[in-house]
Amino acid sequence: MLRPVHIAIPTLVRVKSGALDRIGIYLSRDKRFTVAVLISSGLQAPLPDRIAASLKEHGISTAAWIEVSNNDLESTARLFAELPSNVHAVVGVGGGKALDVAKYVSFLGRLPFFAVPTSLSNDGFCSPQSSLTIRGRRRSLSASLPFGVIIDTEVCLAAPRFLTLSGVGDLVSKFTAVRDWKLAFHAKGESVDDFAALLSDGSIHSFLSHPRFDLDGIRLLATALMMNGIAMEICGSSRPASGSEHLISHALDAISRRPRLHGLQVGIATYIISLLQGINTDRIIDLFDATGFWTAIAEDPFSRSEWLQAVRTAPSIKENFYTILSSRDVMPEVEQILTSDFRLTPCFQD
Ligand SMILES: [Zn+2]
Repeated sequence: MLRPVHIAIPTLVRVKSGALDRIGIYLSRDKRFTVAVLISSGLQAPLPDRIAASLKEHGISTAAWIEVSNNDLESTARLFAELPSNVHAVVGVGGGKALDVAKYVSFLGRLPFFAVPTSLSNDGFCSPQSSLTIRGRRRSLSASLPFGVIIDTEVCLAAPRFLTLSGVGDLVSKFTAVRDWKLAFHAKGESVDDFAALLSDGSIHSFLSHPRFDLDGIRLLATALMMNGIAMEICGSSRPASGSEHLISHALDAISRRPRLHGLQVGIATYIISLLQGINTDRIIDLFDATGFWTAIAEDPFSRSEWLQAVRTAPSIKENFYTILSSRDVMPEVEQILTSDFRLTPCFQD
C-alpha cells in the first residue's frame, strides 16, 4: 500500500470551552470573510444564534445559511450548484447529517471546510468520507478532511449522553479494526500502514486514561475521534477505523426494524468481536464500565435475532475485506456469547 501522494490534515484545530463563540475570530484570522453555513435543522437554541453573533461581530458575511435535514446525494449536489460564487469557505455545524453534507459540498467546490460538531456521536466529523444516501441506501463517498475543526467542549458535554456514548462506541472499535487489519496481513498479505495503525490504537488510550464525561474527558474523546479520521487519511483506507464490528453495524442498518445510533451498535459489536479475536476485551469492559455504556444499551435492548442475522451477513457486505469473520464459522461462538455472556444478556431481547 502506497501512502497517498497528497494528504491534507486539519490546519486549524480548536478543542476548548467557548470555541463556538470564537468561530468569527478563527475565520477572520484565516481571511475567510464570506462563508456558507450549513447547519443541522432544529439545532438547539441558542447555538445557532451564538454562531451568527460571532460571525457578525468579526465581520464575516454569510452568503448562505442553510438548515440541513436531508443527506441524500441529490439535494447535496443541488446545494453545491446553488452555492454563491463568492464563498471562501463552508462551515458545517451540528450533527452527522449536516457535517456530511457540508463536507461534500465543500469537496465538490474545492473549498476549505470548517467542521463544528456540537456532539461527538462518531468519528465522521473529521473523516475523509461523507456518508450520504443514494436512492435510500447509505453510501460512503470520498471527500476531503476538514481544513478546520472547532469543537466547543462545553457544548458537546451538554449534548444528550447517548450521543456521547455512541462516540465512545465508535472510538473503542479501533481496537478490533486494527486487529482485523493485522489478521488480513497474516492471512492475505494485505499491507498494514504501521503509523496509521499506531495512531488509531493510541487514540483510544488517551481517552482510556480519563474515561469521564467532564470537560477534560470530552476533550480527549474529541481529539481521539479526530485522530481516527487522520489515520484513515494517512493510509488512504478506512482500515484503521473500521473492521468487522463496522460490517455488523452496516448489516444492522440494512435489516433492522429500528437501527440505532452508529456508535451504540458498533460498540457492542466491538465487544463481541474482541471475544472472537481473543484480545483487548478487558480494556473494552473497563471503558464500558466507566462510561455506563452497558446500562445505556440495557435500557433499550437490541434484538438478538436481528444481531444473529447481521453477523451472518456481515462478511458479504464488503468484497475482498478480510476480517475475523472470514477466518472461520463464528456463528456457534456468537450464538453462545449472545445468550450466555452476563454483560450482554441485559443488552438483548428476542
Ligand atoms: Zn464508525
